[in-house]
Amino acid sequence: MTMDQAGREQLVRALAAAVIDHAEELTRLDQAIGDGDHGLNMKRGFEAVLADLPATAAKPLPDMMKAIGMTMVMKVGGASGPLVGTFFLELGKALPGEPARADLVAATAKAIAGVRARGKSETGQKTMLDVLVPVQAAFAAGGDGAALKAEAARAAEATVPMLATRGRASFLGERSIGHMDPGARSSQLMIAAAADALGG
Ligand code: ADP
Ligand code: MG
Ligand code: MG
Repeated sequence: MTMDQAGREQLVRALAAAVIDHAEELTRLDQAIGDGDHGLNMKRGFEAVLADLPATAAKPLPDMMKAIGMTMVMKVGGASGPLVGTFFLELGKALPGEPARADLVAATAKAIAGVRARGKSETGQKTMLDVLVPVQAAFAAGGDGAALKAEAARAAEATVPMLATRGRASFLGERSIGHMDPGARSSQLMIAAAADALGG
């Protein structure tokens, strides 16, 4: 995959728009099983990322991803900032400048391993990992953009009946059941945006 500066900038703008345009929905989801700040947290982070454009997109892809990760870690409070930031940081560390598909598969696996380590979390706990892990598996299995978007939508929906055992939602115990996890939804939105920006 070769991506020039314009392509990198387009990818970042698409990721940011996906989150910012859905900030109210993310907040509503977090009001149901958390403290109601997920939309604001993610919006603040991506607004800071946008403020650094186009300079960030002038960097090679790995450095751009690391810069996004640093911004998310520094500008976003709560659980999601360090976790989403870790994803982008580790992705940047693992990616070569012009990644082939296999490189993207390997780098996303490493990025998810970073989230898991940072969050001391696993799938089945009603978190962003419940979207990231199955979508990465579909990607590794050869899925195209449309397949990954479909898997992300299915996986986010599958967090609704889950019992939360990590993050703030876990404080609710059984009352966490019946609501979509906000971080699962924001992950789905970013995956859909990336799939579209990278050409389906
Ligand atoms: P906070 O919970 O600190 O207010 P946010 O509301 O921004 O932070 O983010 C909440 C989201 O973070 C959850 O919906 C969940 O997907 C994710 N999350 C929380 N804790 C963890 C964890 N330990 N591992 C993975 N994801 C987590
Ligand atoms: Mg919250
Ligand atoms: Mg919070």
